Amino acid sequence: MYYMSTRDTSLKFESAEAIKKGLSEDGGLFVPSEIPSITKAEIRKMIGMSYIERANLVLKKYLTDFTDEEISDCTKGAYGNGKFSSEKVAPVVKIGDEKYILELWHGPTCAFKDMALQILPRFMTTSMRKTGEKKEIVILVATSGDTGKAALEGFKDVKGTKIIVFYPGDGVSDIQKLQMITQEGTNVYVSGIDGNFDDAQNGVKAIFTDEKYGDMLFKSGFSLSSANSINWGRLVPQIVYYISAYCDMIEMGDIELGDKINVCVPTGNFGNILAAYYAKKMGLPIAKLICASNRNNVLTDFIRTGEYDKNRPFYQSVSPSMDILISSNLERLLFDICGNDGSKVKTMMNKLSKNGSYKLTKTLHKKVTNLFWGGCCDDYFTKERIWKTFTEVGYTLDTHTAVAVDVYEQYVNETGDKTKTVIASTASPYKFNQAVLSALGEDAENGDDFELIDRLKAKSGMEVPKSLSELKNKEVRFDGVINKTEMPELVKQALKVK
Ligand SMILES: *Cc1c(COP(=O)(O)O)cnc(C)c1O
Repeated sequence: MYYMSTRDTSLKFESAEAIKKGLSEDGGLFVPSEIPSITKAEIRKMIGMSYIERANLVLKKYLTDFTDEEISDCTKGAYGNGKFSSEKVAPVVKIGDEKYILELWHGPTCAFKDMALQILPRFMTTSMRKTGEKKEIVILVATSGDTGKAALEGFKDVKGTKIIVFYPGDGVSDIQKLQMITQEGTNVYVSGIDGNFDDAQNGVKAIFTDEKYGDMLFKSGFSLSSANSINWGRLVPQIVYYISAYCDMIEMGDIELGDKINVCVPTGNFGNILAAYYAKKMGLPIAKLICASNRNNVLTDFIRTGEYDKNRPFYQSVSPSMDILISSNLERLLFDICGNDGSKVKTMMNKLSKNGSYKLTKTLHKKVTNLFWGGCCDDYFTKERIWKTFTEVGYTLDTHTAVAVDVYEQYVNETGDKTKTVIASTASPYKFNQAVLSALGEDAENGDDFELIDRLKAKSGMEVPKSLSELKNKEVRFDGVINKTEMPELVKQALKVK
């Protein structure tokens, strides 16, 4: 198997090269030349296996240039050694007759990004060794909150890498900020910028595309890379947990091998739900993929009308990790439904960057609606869903997962579909404690974050993740906030380049 660009299929690489590069030089994303299949017999074999064993089996099908030993070193390092607070890594919890929550937030930073960012650095260093890379890899990240911390935890003290994270000084929650500025590790660097997420993102992009600057770093022994969700090494580990969830539901005795399930995902950059799509294409019996958005509902409109149009207001919501108007990973879906026609994808992406919109043909739109159902939910209904779910079944949802549960209920109301459905839960409620507390009718205005955590514990009875309660006593290491024009200079300083 090889990897090619979604905009030019003549650009082909092995997976190690694709992971190291991150993004194809023509601006396209790397996709596998074919989607491998998973047979019923293989799924049967996976029942009773540990998460790590399941991951080994699935990843092997995609990373065909990696040895078995290399893959199992990566999975053990990422998901073993008690790094995840659940022995199952990604456990499935039943909260209704047809409703199953797939908890993806038991990793070190309490958001689902850990599922991919714990293993990406291991893929990256393995890929560097395999391709004979001698430079030190510098990971540059602009974050709206969850990615930065998850990338820092994943890359900390990983040999041959350095990581620099920029966060918007006025855009992240207090807990998210504390998580980052107290980061430990000898190869990490964190800085606030005076601006919003777009400013941070544009600053990082400017560094990536400045050839002279890149040459200067290269001569000093560094090569820039990204931990963004466009990297194939971040997407492929996400396929594993949908297959694992299916096996768990068989183990629970709730489905039989071959039964269809639906999957519902709270969506931002379209990475998580795309992984479920790949699992379906591999042969996992998934019927409908339900795409849930918050008030930034560009994907709902896209699925319903066939037109992607980002020319609309941007809203800040209580589910900030889904506040996105350009869902980058959608490009991979387009490539697939176009029958791997890179030139068609290129045309659509050019329209998107020029006019902010593009429209699918009727045939392509039909393909999308056969696969996906799209829905959205604003902050009011997000909070109401948190309250309802807690009152009815005693389960506490975070704001992102609540969007998904609400959209799932809309789907059932509209279609009457009784298929058992896995709803991806992407964050611990403790990470968004203020919104969750106020949804539950508790005082969320008075007190610092740690008091809010205590209050949420008293209300929900859920265990507080150790990594969050420990923040209280951590030393602040990176309290700087710079002007956005100073970003290139800060990178030089962090790397000690003259
Ligand atoms: C990143 C994130 C999402 C969105 O996931 P995508 O793969 O970008 O669609 C949803 N919820 C949380 C908590 C996240 O951190």
